[in-house]
Amino acid sequence: MTMLHSLRLAGRKNETPAETQMKHQQTLMITQEASGWELPSWQRQQADLITDPAELLAMLDLPVESLPDALSAATDFPLRVPRSYVALMERGNPHDPLLRQVLSVADEMVAQPGFSADPLDEAEHTAVPGLLHKYHGRALLVVTGACAVHCRYCFRRHFPYQTHLSGKRWKQALEWLAARPDINEVILSGGDPLTLSNQRLEQLLDALESIPHLRRLRIHSRTPVVIPERLEVGLKALLTWRRWQTVLVLHGNHPREISPALVERCRDLRSAGITLLNQSVLLAGVNDRADTLAELSDRLFDAGVMPYYLHQLDAVQGAAHFAVSDEAAREIHAALRARLPGFLVPRLTREEPGEPAKTVLAG
Ligand SMILES: *Cc1c(COP(=O)(O)O)cnc(C)c1O
Ligand code: SF4
Repeated sequence: MTMLHSLRLAGRKNETPAETQMKHQQTLMITQEASGWELPSWQRQQADLITDPAELLAMLDLPVESLPDALSAATDFPLRVPRSYVALMERGNPHDPLLRQVLSVADEMVAQPGFSADPLDEAEHTAVPGLLHKYHGRALLVVTGACAVHCRYCFRRHFPYQTHLSGKRWKQALEWLAARPDINEVILSGGDPLTLSNQRLEQLLDALESIPHLRRLRIHSRTPVVIPERLEVGLKALLTWRRWQTVLVLHGNHPREISPALVERCRDLRSAGITLLNQSVLLAGVNDRADTLAELSDRLFDAGVMPYYLHQLDAVQGAAHFAVSDEAAREIHAALRARLPGFLVPRLTREEPGEPAKTVLAG
């Protein structure tokens, strides 16, 4: 057995609950397919993710020699990347900024002081399992542990999803919300809420809509960035004609991620009255240059998406190699302000446990 195979098996044995859930979904999809159902294209893509680093490198014409190191970091948070996202990467470039976001590197295994498993003290703010209440008027629902892509910088890469998930727990979270008239906005997060089927989403949205004091629904998702087809007509129908205002916050980090396919679908949602925002994480070797971020803002605006936040990295174990110092971050932000209209400059922020809002480093 090769190194590669034994590591992959090890990964399987230590499967995360999110993985198990995704596999379950995939099995369901395959069963549906066998019974002749036409699956939406995004679900087929989600069932056909690349999870083998050797395959990913081969697709990009990159040598596989560097793999053993990279793989050891990937066992507890394995590779997961849609083919449509790989198609946006540059062939033959081992430093491609999109590749860097998904391929594990040996640096992840180096423990760094100050980098922990729960950098935001989320355990502290869990009101009921699956519901985080940290900021005034807003509650965040962890609706699933699954993601269409695994991002190496993810601050929830060590999140204890198994203590947060399951249908029964949605019920508990809904009861909590119904009893809290001071909450007027629900934020669907995860994992990634848009990995859920429209059917599941609809159940949740219907239940939320019956809680009279909720006046805004916000969905945070990276799925459309990696699988633009997720923004299909069924989802549009689900999100429009609700009693409340719907805000969809995309998580795009690099201008190349705002592909023509994504631009087209965002414009469509925008014209249906959905507010579209984008939040990015400032990542060394990915987007830590003013010209990259300026191009990102330009492309987002072409798509009808307003830049919202540029986050400083959360100090999660395994992501230290993405960190940009506050000083450098402020310089990049100042350069961005010097070249863009004010409305295309995202606020540079950091999440600090215990603060009443995200901390603005530069506005
Ligand atoms: C970031 C965050 C929010 C939303 O904050 P905004 O500044 O309104 O975007 C809400 N709840 C939690 C737990 C968060 O981490
Ligand atoms: S999509 Fe979001 S939650 Fe999922 S791995 Fe990436 S950063 Fe983390």
